[in-house]
Amino acid sequence: MAPGGGSAAARVSDPSGGPVGAGIGRLTGQAARCSGRLQGGWALLPLVGADGLLRAARAAGYAVGAFSVHTPEMVDAVFAAAEARGAPVLLQVGQRAIRHAGLQETASWVIARAARSPVPAALHLDHSRSWDQVVRALRAGCTSVMFDGSDLPFADNVAATAAVVRLAHAAGVPAEGEVGRVGGVEDDPSEDALAARLASVEQAVRFVQDTGVDSLAPAVGNVHGLSDRIPRLDLGRLRVIGEAVAVPLVLHGGSGLDEAQIRAAVAAGVAKVNVDTELRHAFLSALRVAVNGPDHADDPYPALAEARRAVAELAQRRIDTFGSAGRA
Ligand SMILES: [Zn+2]
Repeated sequence: MAPGGGSAAARVSDPSGGPVGAGIGRLTGQAARCSGRLQGGWALLPLVGADGLLRAARAAGYAVGAFSVHTPEMVDAVFAAAEARGAPVLLQVGQRAIRHAGLQETASWVIARAARSPVPAALHLDHSRSWDQVVRALRAGCTSVMFDGSDLPFADNVAATAAVVRLAHAAGVPAEGEVGRVGGVEDDPSEDALAARLASVEQAVRFVQDTGVDSLAPAVGNVHGLSDRIPRLDLGRLRVIGEAVAVPLVLHGGSGLDEAQIRAAVAAGVAKVNVDTELRHAFLSALRVAVNGPDHADDPYPALAEARRAVAELAQRRIDTFGSAGRA
């Protein structure tokens, strides 16, 4: 106890001259009145939880774009696209970015850019298979995490995902799980193999109940990556799963899908669509053209700006397809 009694905190004044407690009271009252958003639409914190964004999307029948980012230019491009379209947005840090750029580094680019953006944005850890990595992601500031136990037998996937959900919830962060197995184009699955890894409705219901996930990524014929063949979604199955579970659904492999299938998936309950491969393609195609131009012998920034613009244009088109424009 400080000499003279009373806690030190009680004597500290805020800049307006009142005690700190009164200042906090005014702040929280202000935040409550404007639903957590300050004057001019600015959020109190740079990032929001993904659960609120996805529940609002599912209720209103649109999807939030979840764009994987690999460089600071891609982060800026995704924010620029969301701001241009007035859309809520998710930025994803995936295993490739973690291997090459680092989890903490990628998260810090996103948080810094989010701090000067008026659109609600969440930072999502994509396809983690490691408890330690989820812990690191929470510490880095992720406001959404996905545990991918789709390689495991169903019961083990449930147990591992449930543990991650409890961990994430302890940090106030929502979690996504995968049931069935989405897989990638590199697997080149046959029709039979693809059918064998679809999520059943019964599995989807049990998985949500037993894990407590906030969103569910069911394998419904979607495939990661881009190939010559457009994957065919089992939209009937997706619709039945959407009716059977209350949580928002997540569609992985958004890059390889046509607009008609994406719109049908959103109508069936998909509230988050993951886009990765086609953003990397857009970035690299634009970069390739720009670096071969005449003016970029010693300055990397003009070429990176072209790559950024290509990613922003693509992300805007996807936001329009998902129906999230004007929902920020
Ligand atoms: Zn995925």
